[in-house]
Amino acid sequence: MPSTAQAGRHEPAPPKHRPDVIRVRGARTHNLASVDVDLPRDRLVVITGPSGSGKSSLAFDTIFAEGRRRYVESLSVAARSLLDRLPRPDVDLVDGLSPCIALEQNAAGRTPRSTLGTLTEVYDFLRLLFARLGTVIDPATGRRAGRTTREEIAEAVLALPEGTRLSVVAPVVEDAVGDHADLLADLLRRGFVRVALDGVVTDLSNAPKLTGDEPHTVEVYVDRLVVRPGIETRLREAIATAAELGHGTVRIVPLEGAERTFREHYTVGTGGHRIDEVSPSLLSFNHPAGACPACGGLGKRPSVLAERIVPDPTRTLEGGALLPHTPHLRRSLARRIDKLVRGLAIPTNVPFQDLPAEARIALLEGTGPGEGVRFAGLLAEVRERLERAREATDDGDDLSAELELLAEDETCPTCRGTRLRPEALCVRLEGRTIADVAAMTVTEIVAFLEGLALPDGQAEVATAVVEPALARLRFLDEIGLSYLTLDRPATTLSGGEFQRARLATQVGAGLVGVTYVLDEPSIGLHPQDTARLLGVLERLRDLGNTVIVVEHDVDTIRAADFVVDMGPKAGREGGRVLATGTVEDLCATEASVTGTYLSGRTPLPAKPGRRHGTTRLVLEGATGHNLANVTLSVPLGTLTCVTGVSGSGKSSLVVDTLLRAVARELTGASKDPLPYRRLRGTAHLEKVVHVDQSPIGRSPRSTPATYTGVFTELRNLFAGLPTARMRGFSPAHFSYNTGAGRCETCAGEGVRRFAMQFLPDVAIPCPSCGGARYGPDVLDIHFRGRNIAEILAMTVDEAAEFFVAQPKIRRPLAVLRDVGLGYLTLGQSATTLSGGEAQRMKLAKELARPAAGPCLYVLDEPTTGLHVADIVVLLGVLDRLVEAGHTVLVIEHDPVVLRHADHIVDLGPGAGPEGGRIVVCGTPEEVAAHPESHTGRHLAPWLEL
Ligand SMILES: [Zn+2]
Ligand SMILES: [Zn+2]
Repeated sequence: MPSTAQAGRHEPAPPKHRPDVIRVRGARTHNLASVDVDLPRDRLVVITGPSGSGKSSLAFDTIFAEGRRRYVESLSVAARSLLDRLPRPDVDLVDGLSPCIALEQNAAGRTPRSTLGTLTEVYDFLRLLFARLGTVIDPATGRRAGRTTREEIAEAVLALPEGTRLSVVAPVVEDAVGDHADLLADLLRRGFVRVALDGVVTDLSNAPKLTGDEPHTVEVYVDRLVVRPGIETRLREAIATAAELGHGTVRIVPLEGAERTFREHYTVGTGGHRIDEVSPSLLSFNHPAGACPACGGLGKRPSVLAERIVPDPTRTLEGGALLPHTPHLRRSLARRIDKLVRGLAIPTNVPFQDLPAEARIALLEGTGPGEGVRFAGLLAEVRERLERAREATDDGDDLSAELELLAEDETCPTCRGTRLRPEALCVRLEGRTIADVAAMTVTEIVAFLEGLALPDGQAEVATAVVEPALARLRFLDEIGLSYLTLDRPATTLSGGEFQRARLATQVGAGLVGVTYVLDEPSIGLHPQDTARLLGVLERLRDLGNTVIVVEHDVDTIRAADFVVDMGPKAGREGGRVLATGTVEDLCATEASVTGTYLSGRTPLPAKPGRRHGTTRLVLEGATGHNLANVTLSVPLGTLTCVTGVSGSGKSSLVVDTLLRAVARELTGASKDPLPYRRLRGTAHLEKVVHVDQSPIGRSPRSTPATYTGVFTELRNLFAGLPTARMRGFSPAHFSYNTGAGRCETCAGEGVRRFAMQFLPDVAIPCPSCGGARYGPDVLDIHFRGRNIAEILAMTVDEAAEFFVAQPKIRRPLAVLRDVGLGYLTLGQSATTLSGGEAQRMKLAKELARPAAGPCLYVLDEPTTGLHVADIVVLLGVLDRLVEAGHTVLVIEHDPVVLRHADHIVDLGPGAGPEGGRIVVCGTPEEVAAHPESHTGRHLAPWLEL
């Protein structure tokens, strides 16, 4: 019983009971088969198992979702009203849970506006630092720009000899055209008596009229004073009034002697830019106060290139000189181009280069006012459409992909890529702008901050700003990201780099007693880097946190304190806990799939007889980014892997140079490759395909069904059913994207969205259709007992079976199953797919319509998100492509893939300036035998298996 008698005493609170496990009972979210499991707290826990076995359902959709619900419960009443509608994890009990933070890999939070600096908050600390300690340097003079506070103005007046007579004056209008009659009338009403009009002091009540078409100056005499003790209050009031009227400028005009002008703000540059205050927002490119006005703080803007619109000027207009590689765009512009060509009588049978200059200018740059036909020019048309496409949030379609091909981003000429307005760049610290510091690597910034000489009395800046920034930077260094610069756009970070940067932010924040849930943090990491990552996870644990990791990486599994092995397969054949405990426990458990591979009970697929290829694709002298004059030779008709630690230059070499160079030679359409000297061997190739990990759709409306084209077939099938024909339904009725068939309430989205404080938006099922996306009329129509919504809720595996007699539907689904995606549902939003799943979707699309001639397939880290069991399936798919005569070039670290490769190119040895060379290339055995190759060292034990 609480008693009031104890109120005044401070007794230590009894130690709270801290459970030592997170207990989960009866978890049935998605495919989980009523899972019961106890996870030890304050430990590193790994949840593993094949794709689709239910790992994420347990870690994210049950444990994290429950943690989030409890967080929402602690929020405002308004937020709690949402609680009942938040997706409730289907679970009987979760207890022992501490506050949860999820670190996922997906694109949320990666906008063109975020950089490594904003992501890790280091840039925010830098803004505070520059705002507190920076000085404003006027670039026009190179000298310190000054300003005076109101208090300093008062002190300057009080320092004048006693008895000095003076006026406090506010310049209200400075050289502005107009008669300013309203202003003067207003001043009179407010009780001011005297003004100076163009320098002539006069009584406000009978001031002469000013001419309306000339510039004038108006100064108001706010007060007249004699310096003596006791005037302080009146003086301060007068200065405040003058500062308000004069927009920060105050003049002190003594009866005798020179007048003095004081400014509350800095004035810098020849344009008279003013800085009211050096605030952190002035230094933010994501705030209107700081963003470069020309590019809105993005640092770059698209520049459309005439040579991409007319790549071959020897062609005629009727021979396809204009936009030959962008057919969708050409079609959408055809009518307007035709009108222009006919209107100006431009000959269509003359090579473009021989057309009269006016005709070429009209086509590219547009017509002038007197030319009869109005046309903005292809350059402007393309630029405008491109900007619109980039702002759109829905799917990037074929047209927007074409538009991107015609442009290169150029550095914004106004801010030179710094993203900041000129005023912000006037703030310097030890001679550097904040943009200078953001352009440094992590290593360099650590040195800069450590060497910073803090002025006296600023000790708290060190603890409040410098130390937290350094903590985050040192972690970035520790997990192998020291080569990144703070201004690196978040959109160009790999999934793994992104997640590790967020991890550094969390460790730097030093929270205790949190449950962290991570999604495959080892993705994209060379084994060398994984070891360092594990060090950081262990540190997070040792601070007193629970770290739950969904992971396939063998090194991470071995490092875990506790492993949960899920399976045995995907979807309905998964969702069970097969084994828990240490790695040894797993190996000793017959039923554990992971255990069978780790213990060697299930052998890895046999190493293929190495294919050598008879011809080669050779890229000579690549020098982009950190590449040190690299010559890359790829044997055609093989599986070749490019390896190396993060930052060693793999993507620069394979994607940014080789891929673009080959695409340009084969199709003419490509972004500019990074510099290289020569490319040989493309004559043996017909096509090049980049199977990357970018999302297959930006909109929640794209799904595996829309992407594979199965949705079109389904709609035709339903529209052909007798009931549908009777009601006059067309295939469009069965689309939830447009048309009359979709649910009106949610416009076919199936969900309503709510914005949350501190959390991503929450979506709840639509109250009208319950998530089905369709109106009742459409849901009434059944094929073999299922309506369209029920079919979209099927997994790929189920649907392939259900439509066994409909080959046009079954075939694309069978290919999805072949690449290990049988567990996805047909209507699953593409935004929920991981990068690895998106990549395998693209791979399936390629397999479904194989290229006729020999093709080069380039894949980035295709094992992302794959369990060993899944990798074995993927290798079968890649082998099928090679056996069909194609070449597969893979950026990869996974030892199971490497031991299977025909040829390995190992880049490095280190990251950034320490990388960019080929350490060794050859068969897996040759790489393993090389003494300097980090990859070789990690690969060697796997070759014994
Ligand atoms: Zn700019
Ligand atoms: Zn609805």
